[in-house]
Amino acid sequence: MKLKNKIHSLSTLMMLILLILSNLGIYFTFDRTQHKTEYSQLLGSAKELTVALSKMTDEEEAEIILRAYVPPNGALRVVGEDGKDVLTVQSMEGLDQKFPTPKRDEDYTLVPYDGFEALSIVIPTIWPTGEVVQLEVTQVLTDLKANLRLLKVVMVGITLFAMIPIIISSITLGRIVTQPIEKLIQAMTDSRRSGTFQQIAVPEQGKDELAQMGQTFNELMIQLEQNYRKQEKFVSDASHELKTPLTVIDSYARLLERRGMDKPELTEEALTAIRGETKRMKEMIEQMLDLARNNEPASYVFEETDVRVLIDDAARMITSAYGRAVHIKGPVQLALSTDGTHLKQLLIILLDNARKYSEREIDVEMEERKEYVRICIRDYGKGIPAKDIPFLFDRFYRVDEDRSRKTGGTGLGLAIANEIAIGLGTKLEIESEEGKGTAVTIWLIKAEGSQ
Ligand code: ADP
Repeated sequence: MKLKNKIHSLSTLMMLILLILSNLGIYFTFDRTQHKTEYSQLLGSAKELTVALSKMTDEEEAEIILRAYVPPNGALRVVGEDGKDVLTVQSMEGLDQKFPTPKRDEDYTLVPYDGFEALSIVIPTIWPTGEVVQLEVTQVLTDLKANLRLLKVVMVGITLFAMIPIIISSITLGRIVTQPIEKLIQAMTDSRRSGTFQQIAVPEQGKDELAQMGQTFNELMIQLEQNYRKQEKFVSDASHELKTPLTVIDSYARLLERRGMDKPELTEEALTAIRGETKRMKEMIEQMLDLARNNEPASYVFEETDVRVLIDDAARMITSAYGRAVHIKGPVQLALSTDGTHLKQLLIILLDNARKYSEREIDVEMEERKEYVRICIRDYGKGIPAKDIPFLFDRFYRVDEDRSRKTGGTGLGLAIANEIAIGLGTKLEIESEEGKGTAVTIWLIKAEGSQ
């Protein structure tokens, strides 16, 4: 069953049950109170009658009084101490034939009588002869029956009439709920068929859950499209980047094939070039894998780490591998909750860039504040032109292709560094001045409770 029909039938059924239950409640309450009213009226007149009878001394007079008090559509019966009828008077023909005997232990007795109900009560009284007799009073509730029938008709009418707006509102409710879902399904089906990322029309002012669902769907589509485009660009950039070293390797291999035997000096040059390009390709592939790995939030494990130890280690690696001096300024110990492995990888990328694009020493400044720790890696090299700074985190972006190629760059280092910074919950800030040098700052936010 469709959701729309489910909402529709369920809400209609619930409302119908509710209406029937409330109508039944009203009906039975009315029925009970009416019986009580009839009973108290009958009891009232019976009591009056007993008072009148107690003053009588003559049986004939008593009979006249009884006739005056006989209820409309009812009967009066006087039963003697021996259980025999003393006198019966009636205003409804034939009632005396089927005279109901009221139960003495109950307020009143109800018995069916000719399609109606007969209500009977019994009350003791003193007969003019001085004998204590039982006065049985019976009334056939013809009016009550008619009233209840009228009430039933009115209630059925009201229930049927009320069902019209209930059905209309449940259909409208079903539509309100399912329309955005149907639109979503349509957009998803179209997107799947056409391979595009279709969005749905959502009321901008909409604040309810359905509008939120539509807005979230659109945001998801935008994000999916961006990721898809990014991925597409990455694949095309990566294949383009890998094509260059492959072309170099291919052309040197052909050269060796053609003239390698005659010119041994050419062999030396070709092999050096092939080895160099192979190394570059290997490095690029490793970096691409790094990029994929650092994208996974699950690969980040935060624990108490001494940042100073990480900086010392990374600086030592650069100094021993390339003989470049790295000066570290700041506290000798700095504990912080972070992912040490990723932070060290980030430091190495930044120190290696500083090393590649400068000749002089490298400075690392550490500063601890109440809420954050600042690490700044500064070099005194060529610097980066201001126009290039916004694109430095793009994959394969290089300021000056020749310069980077000479230094063995791939244009992936800062992209990886940026992904790591995001994974660590921070961001990188790059300041650079051409001819003077570059400073890259990492802001590490201290978690509450960290010293
Ligand atoms: P690469 O592998 O080419 O170094 P990166 O993503 O690390 O790739 O850097 C992108 C570009 O930014 C580099 O090609 C380089 O031109 C420039 N760059 C990065 N760091 C520095 C720096 N410290 N000084 C000068 N230029 C830099």
